[in-house]
Amino acid sequence: MTDLKSLLPEELEAYMSVLGEPKFRAKQIFSWLTKGVRDFDEMTNLPAALREKLRAGASISSLRLLRRRESEKDGTVKYLWELGDGNAVETVVMRYSHGATVCISTQVGCRMGCAFCASTIGGLVRSLVPSEMLDEVLYSQSDYGEAISNIVLMGIGEPLDNFKNVVKFLRLVNRPEGLNIGMRHISLSTCGLPEGIAALAAEDLSLTLAISLHAPDDETRSKLMPANRGVGVRALEQACRDYFAATGRRITFEYAMIDGVNDSEAQASALAALARRTRAHVNLIPLNHVEERPFSPSGPGRMRAFCAVLDKAGTNYTVRRSLGGDVDASCGQLRRKREREERSAGQ
Ligand code: SAH
Repeated sequence: MTDLKSLLPEELEAYMSVLGEPKFRAKQIFSWLTKGVRDFDEMTNLPAALREKLRAGASISSLRLLRRRESEKDGTVKYLWELGDGNAVETVVMRYSHGATVCISTQVGCRMGCAFCASTIGGLVRSLVPSEMLDEVLYSQSDYGEAISNIVLMGIGEPLDNFKNVVKFLRLVNRPEGLNIGMRHISLSTCGLPEGIAALAAEDLSLTLAISLHAPDDETRSKLMPANRGVGVRALEQACRDYFAATGRRITFEYAMIDGVNDSEAQASALAALARRTRAHVNLIPLNHVEERPFSPSGPGRMRAFCAVLDKAGTNYTVRRSLGGDVDASCGQLRRKREREERSAGQ
């Protein structure tokens, strides 16, 4: 079966010619798919014979809602969706002043092994295909009842470990005849794989690249993020400089403040120097506590001392507002909860 929602308009055109249909049908189908139709019969401007041909050889991917939790504090909505094969992924919709932002997952699980993250605990199950990522946007948008204006790839999974599918998804949502979400309204967050960063620069997408840095020194970073081992902060820095040189787009360093691990003043200085050399913006994030993990967020005192160093160094930084804390909105937590509940139900 051809996975229709994973096809770009020109690929749909090629598919139409295989079916012996005129090209313009591709545009109509693409537009229906972007509207989130769930059955070929909803494509009312297609002849019945074409709808039958499509039904015979192609499929329209879909998601099933497993859970929906809405924050009472800030209206953040978190969805747990079941994919066609029974796996589950999380999507979060957040409200910012500039519009509704959807945070999507790119893989089922993750193999990067970050020590503070819930998404990686069960390892990688599989990568998502473009239609599944597109469905996260379409289904969440439809439930949320408002057009999504921004997309962040910061849910479960490592986007650069699913490079081809992620790039295709970005091109699909970017199409003017589709969701028409501008690249400047899209952020991709990575644990920092230099080859992936170089490949992304070559795609010339003008999206915002966020690097989960979390430590400026190899000793701490390799402890927290196994993906740093054998790569090192130096190589990551070089990849960031090359990315900036190639794209002219400023990188963001995400930095989750972890009590007694990465929040010393010496680390703040090293972070400030690294940010200056790479011309990066720093985004400090209060660590979300994850039940299975031994880390705690830095307290206000340490946070203040850390920020004071950044201020003095003239670092360009912000402290991220934390949304959805009451709905387990940080990555992987709802999926983990379901897995734990299923295991205890089965005992
Ligand atoms: N794999 C990608 C994107 C997914 S994670 C990446 O590593 O960037 C999205 C962001 O949430 C990353 O910056 C990640 O490091 C961070 N994160 C993961 N667990 C967290 C936690 N418990 N508290 C705060 N941030 C966390």
